[in-house]
Amino acid sequence: MIIGVLKEPSPENRVSLLPEHISLLQKWNVSVYVEMGAGENAFAKDNKYAEAGATIASRNEVLKHADLILSISNPLMAETDQMSKKILFGLYQPLYNAPQIKDWVAKGLTVFSIDMLPRTTRAQSMDVLSSQANIAGYKAVLQASYLFPKYFPMFMTAAGTIPPAKVLILGAGVAGLQAIATAKRLGAVVEVFDTRPAVKEEVMSLGAKFVEVEGAADAASAGGYAVEQTDEFMQRQKSKIAESVAKADIIITTAQIPGKKAPVLITEEMMSVMKNGSVIIDIAAATGGNTALTKNDETVNYNGVSIVGNSRLPGTMPSDASKLYGKNILNFLQLIINKEGMLNLNFDDDLVKGTCIAHDGKIMNEKVGALI
Ligand code: NAD
Repeated sequence: MIIGVLKEPSPENRVSLLPEHISLLQKWNVSVYVEMGAGENAFAKDNKYAEAGATIASRNEVLKHADLILSISNPLMAETDQMSKKILFGLYQPLYNAPQIKDWVAKGLTVFSIDMLPRTTRAQSMDVLSSQANIAGYKAVLQASYLFPKYFPMFMTAAGTIPPAKVLILGAGVAGLQAIATAKRLGAVVEVFDTRPAVKEEVMSLGAKFVEVEGAADAASAGGYAVEQTDEFMQRQKSKIAESVAKADIIITTAQIPGKKAPVLITEEMMSVMKNGSVIIDIAAATGGNTALTKNDETVNYNGVSIVGNSRLPGTMPSDASKLYGKNILNFLQLIINKEGMLNLNFDDDLVKGTCIAHDGKIMNEKVGALI
């Protein structure tokens, strides 16, 4: 088999595989074609890929020769026009991208989208959502600390006392938990909201305060993910969040519901009473954002409050992000490539079945199928 690695379109800085990942594929008798400059923005030069045994080639050559094409973003529609029997493998967000998937099914492509990987214990080493969200949570706090015009930690000095920054975190999934840990390391006082009561203990073990809101919808059937809440719950939650927003210096919002628009948890009214110089980093921006004023990939200044819509934080640490992403991908590829380097699709494996979106002209994933 030949695996092809595409260069990502700007502004994506990450790459699906780094040179350090190539040697393992060669042990499985898999050859690797890498598009020229694919790793440049992740500090991996073409010569390093070549030294690791990859063939550096033009994009057209990669698309032509590779049996399995790795990319983080979708390849262009025109690029898939001439393809048949190829395997596309990436982070395609099919629940937000139904027309694209429909087109790929019609072309008979086999498509794997690693963001659809079931969240089970066995899947942890392949979970790109976790490895990348961990970076996003860490970097969100660092970005906030850079924009915030005050100290994070408390200081008691001869010239007076500086109080610690108050950080509010909405959503304690992978990103939120890392944001809590990072804000605590910098000395902030941290408050947290989540609709899943299961995270309360984790939040408290990181030294933050978990603000409980009674009556959240049970997410047990959603594989650990959040589900949409009733209007009544959302109203109750909003009034509690409003109290915390008014006190906060920094807010990190991470609340997402797979396949849906992110819930708006912070209204304009709430932001109108925030302190001048406060900072909101909204990492749910790409799916609509958790504030009423979030603009994806933009910073909005509202009454002296900076609202940063940034879902691209993993790409600001492209070397580490690609290192973890590539390792996640290699761990998954072991499920579908045998020791002779041949494709071996076992749809009795829940991880293969859950992650495969399309095969043989059919939609394979039930959640995606329901949208098409
Ligand atoms: P996510 O990015 O989908 O959402 C972030 C957080 O937002 C979640 O904790 C969610 O509960 C919260 N949220 C949603 N609506 C909200 C609202 N109205 N108010 C407040 N918070 C709200 O989540 P994620 O980081 O991908 O992880 C979700 C969960 O999946 C994890 O905590 C974990 O239980 C599970 N998980 C399992 C594995 C595994 O076993 N392989 C790996 C990663 C995550």
